[in-house]
Amino acid sequence: MEKFDAIVIGAGAAGMFCAALAGQAGRRVLLLDNGKKPGRKILMSGGGRCNFTNLYVEPAAYLSQNPHFCKSALARYTQWDFIELVGKYGIAWHEKTLGQLFCDDSAQQIVDLLVAECEKGNVIQRLRTEVLSVERNDDGYTLQLNGESVQAENLVIASGGLSMPGLGASPFGYKIAEQFGLKVLPTRAGLVPFTLHKPLLEQMQTLSGVSVPSVITAEDGTVFRENLLFTHRGLSGPAILQISSYWQPGEFVSINLLPDVDLDGFLNQQRDAHPNQSLKNTLAMQLPKRLVECLQQTGQIPDVTLKQLNSREQENLLALLTNWRVQPNGTEGYRTAEVTLGGVDTHELSSRTMEARNVPGLYFIGEVMDVTGWLGGYNFQWAWSSAWACAQALAAK
Ligand code: FAD
Repeated sequence: MEKFDAIVIGAGAAGMFCAALAGQAGRRVLLLDNGKKPGRKILMSGGGRCNFTNLYVEPAAYLSQNPHFCKSALARYTQWDFIELVGKYGIAWHEKTLGQLFCDDSAQQIVDLLVAECEKGNVIQRLRTEVLSVERNDDGYTLQLNGESVQAENLVIASGGLSMPGLGASPFGYKIAEQFGLKVLPTRAGLVPFTLHKPLLEQMQTLSGVSVPSVITAEDGTVFRENLLFTHRGLSGPAILQISSYWQPGEFVSINLLPDVDLDGFLNQQRDAHPNQSLKNTLAMQLPKRLVECLQQTGQIPDVTLKQLNSREQENLLALLTNWRVQPNGTEGYRTAEVTLGGVDTHELSSRTMEARNVPGLYFIGEVMDVTGWLGGYNFQWAWSSAWACAQALAAK
């Protein structure tokens, strides 16, 4: 039976980085994945350009039942450390918006970086490999794979969450956690579009593809200021993806579609200057024409001139456009979600090493645990930081 110092399950962002660093520290590492290629999610990320980190990474940008857990790893391996590594590989990057860093060319460059780092660490990689069973004995962990058994003193679970089953996502990590007695918190899709109830969706048929700046607020008071996109299924765009992680079924979100306009003042000023101008044309100066037309066709704004618009109608308009309360029907689920909220309870893990407190040699890194970042490079940074913390611990053993 082949023996290793560490076996890492999952050749995604966290698994590849951890395997590479532990290998470079002289550990004999086996990296396993059930897919054909490593880093499949990285290749799909950031529209093919991989939003690999964020300039403004801070613990407040992560959701977890244990909000302090992420602090240590994020402080010890920072966005600046990963930016430096990207620089060493000559990968050109740019800030798109809100501190989000993307490759100028392609996400493949980040996968190539990780593959090269694994090669530097002499990491042995086995793809298309199913782990049939995991057992712990005096020598560490014995894994039955399809066709062979392998053993290691340390086992690192980097198999990610449930989002995008098409890219290899599986509940493997949660099952291993449960097998060894660790608590797994309920999971749900995060960074995911909303679906809408049929009547509202039918009213918005013509809006698919329309994007507007917005400020969006969840019932718990969380606020994001980003673009909102109408789709043929419901609502999407960065504002919706962000707030979806803070939304629970049955709750409302409120949306300000005119966050940069004093609508009352604007309407009064336009009325003074052009009393016979239609309300529709006036609103179209601030909002996409298709949106205004849709609101009028569905009877949500009156077909009047500005001088005909009475104060009650103006108040209703203000409420509709600056405090539009929407109750989503649900989300598009794991099929299109960028992340999985919940997962292995971090109370069970050391925040310094990512090792299970009561199961020596068993580590969890990346998305499999209950740490979920905002949209914008935060989730990859968690993969890098947690992988680094684990690799330090493996190197010190
Ligand atoms: P993953 O990258 O999911 O890797 C897990 C690996 O484990 C996979 O290779 C999988 O095949 C393997 N695996 C699973 N089950 C098994 C099993 N039973 N046996 C063997 N192997 C198994 N985050 C950002 O920060 N920036 C972005 O631009 C961004 N864009 C995204 C775009 C999309 C479409 C998606 C889906 C996510 C995006 N994310 C982004 C989130 C980010 O990709 C994840 O948070 C990150 O990949 C998590 O890394 P991980 O290594 O923990 O898990």
